[in-house]
Amino acid sequence: MQFGTKLVIDGKLVAGDHTLDVINPATGKLFATVARASQQQAAAAIAAAKKAQPGWEALGWDRRGEMLKALADSLEKHRGDFINVMIAEQGKPSREAADEVDYSIAFIRYFAGLRLQDEVIPAPGGRVELRHRPLGVVAGISPWNFPLLIPAAKIAPALIAGNTMVMKPAPTTPILTLMLGELGIGILPPGVLNVITDQNDLGNMLTSHPDIAKVTFTGSTATGRRIMANGASTLKRLTLELGGNDAAIVLDDVNIQETADRIFDAAFFNAGQACLAIKRVYVADAIYEAFCKAMARRAQEAVVGPGSQPSTRIGPLQNRQQFEKAKHFLNVAHRDGRVIAGGMAMEREGYFIRPTIVRDIDDQSELVTEEQFCPILPIVRVTDGEDALARANRSEFGLGGSVWSADSARAKALARRMQSGTVWVNQHLNFGPEVPLAGAKQSGIGVEWTELGLAEFCQVNVIREAA
Ligand code: NAD
Repeated sequence: MQFGTKLVIDGKLVAGDHTLDVINPATGKLFATVARASQQQAAAAIAAAKKAQPGWEALGWDRRGEMLKALADSLEKHRGDFINVMIAEQGKPSREAADEVDYSIAFIRYFAGLRLQDEVIPAPGGRVELRHRPLGVVAGISPWNFPLLIPAAKIAPALIAGNTMVMKPAPTTPILTLMLGELGIGILPPGVLNVITDQNDLGNMLTSHPDIAKVTFTGSTATGRRIMANGASTLKRLTLELGGNDAAIVLDDVNIQETADRIFDAAFFNAGQACLAIKRVYVADAIYEAFCKAMARRAQEAVVGPGSQPSTRIGPLQNRQQFEKAKHFLNVAHRDGRVIAGGMAMEREGYFIRPTIVRDIDDQSELVTEEQFCPILPIVRVTDGEDALARANRSEFGLGGSVWSADSARAKALARRMQSGTVWVNQHLNFGPEVPLAGAKQSGIGVEWTELGLAEFCQVNVIREAA
């Protein structure tokens, strides 16, 4: 590996005060050792971002946009390196790794071209100017399931709005974010984008530091709650994209094979480790048998293996902790339901489990009520769409969901009553920066992407003049 082993602080590559071992999940063996920041280095990163912010803001939207475009171009130039590291560090199959790198480039380009215009608002008694000013220093904290896309989708809007940033990836996938920060060194002014890594020990410091104005976080609901508590004393702005337990509701009139294929893809994408993956399926009684059979067939056919192998469809779990969690859910699956495909960890090196389909399971089982975040999918029998909707809405989560029917008006009528930020009709997991992402209930606070997401990186500033 040529780059991505050092911290990025104040425009320089910095050796860590500590080190961090990175494991390849396809082998369970050490893949690289990279820098890990101390509290002092985290403080230096925040100080560098604070110092750089006024100059970065003064450059204006267009100049900042040019630099972000240059960052996207540089990422595109190094596309192959990023894909290779993604496969080794995160474990995903090569096609999914390539998609993640391409999406990251697209997200950075999208925000590089986005603007929030100043406006004059007609108001009685004078002239009112509405402006969008940056907030200051933003802390970005990301999980391990999309280790490049999630940081890119935080960095680009934070920076285009004139904020500076300290970005911290998850401890098990630090390299891609360090690489992106390193690319920024020749392009962005020093201090604008700092990247530090930790061993789950710097989050509290970052999210309670008085010089951090906003935290943009993607991760678990439990950590989101801690971040809210940490930010309370300084009233930090927060965008929290948290856990999900997306339900798919399958009505009795669908084309069974086609729907099973699409639902399988949306459930087992990234080995089920996607916030917006389908995590529970509610199927109408009339088609339950046939649908379960079609899903089991897909699961039995899926090629499981290292991401580097071109035929692989499903890679390993990303880390040992998640692998252990998956093994727990395998036990739950055997205890609470009938396993009709998979049902076991693979006897080989690495963190692999076979894609597992579980039928005849009650939706009070923890496999249905909790976010399993692994390739184990419960299929619950329901009487009809109303029954499914009531069960789907019982969850504390509300990230995404979908309704599947040959009659899209019938599906849409249910979709409108689903308590989720995003509800798809006859599709799932279709996303991009031009459509807002917002979690309902305990799946998050705030909006990401589009102008709505960009506005969350800004302070509304009103200048009111006498007539
Ligand atoms: P996690 O919450 O354990 O960790 C996420 C990040 O938070 C890591 O960088 C971690 O180091 C950091 N962190 C840990 N303790 C912290 C603290 N006290 N303060 C601040 N930061 C702290 O989550 P994970 O296991 O890495 O990721 C999986 C979770 O992320 C799942 O629940 C998944 O649904 C969620 N997720 C949500 C979305 C979304 O857009 N809603 C996207 C991807 C993943």
